[in-house]
Amino acid sequence: MKIGLTGGIASGKSTVSRFLQSLGAKVVDADEIAHELMKPKQKLWQKVVGHFGEEILKAEQEIDRDKLGTIIFNNPQQREKLDQLTHPIIISEIKARVEKLEQSYEIVIAEIPLLIEVGMIDFFAEVWLVYLKRTVQIKRLMQRDDINREAAVKKIESQMPLDEKKEYADRIIVNNGSQEELEKQVQKLWRKII
Ligand code: ATP
Repeated sequence: MKIGLTGGIASGKSTVSRFLQSLGAKVVDADEIAHELMKPKQKLWQKVVGHFGEEILKAEQEIDRDKLGTIIFNNPQQREKLDQLTHPIIISEIKARVEKLEQSYEIVIAEIPLLIEVGMIDFFAEVWLVYLKRTVQIKRLMQRDDINREAAVKKIESQMPLDEKKEYADRIIVNNGSQEELEKQVQKLWRKII
């Protein structure tokens, strides 16, 4: 069975993935795939360098993520362009990997931050959302990234609200409490699907 796992920034997706992995699920991480495909000469690298030019490269032909980040941060049209160039490739790579893994594993989980936004809902048998209260999300993000409240709020507000994402989710994992509580919920869900 294919399950898509999503949530917001610092909501606890990776933590949930880790629990699921230890229970026996095979986990695929969209960010990791995107990272791999951005390596020199890989598919995304070709597209991104083709559009933004070699000035975004640093030593060893690697894409300078800070430079690229600055360009798109200051220019919504360029951000849109980057998404247009990269999302279809990342989506098809995720699909291919999940389908292949499904031949060997009973449960394949794909952790995808933008699962809902990029329209991948129907690919999965179920969509699981890691949800948490805004106040807790702000606190965790401030702590993890060592940033102030204003910066954390800005990052959270640039994303689709979690309350909106809830409407698309088949199961909701609430991460307001301790990691132990989170693990218990994940174990309970796991027992339901196996
Ligand atoms: P992102 O997509 O932004 O990388 P994420 O959704 O994968 O984040 P995690 O990395 O799992 O989220 O968690 C974000 C931060 O919050 C981490 O520092 C993690 O250790 C912490 N965290 C997650 N769940 C809990 C919890 N229940 N109690 C305390 N800290 C937590």
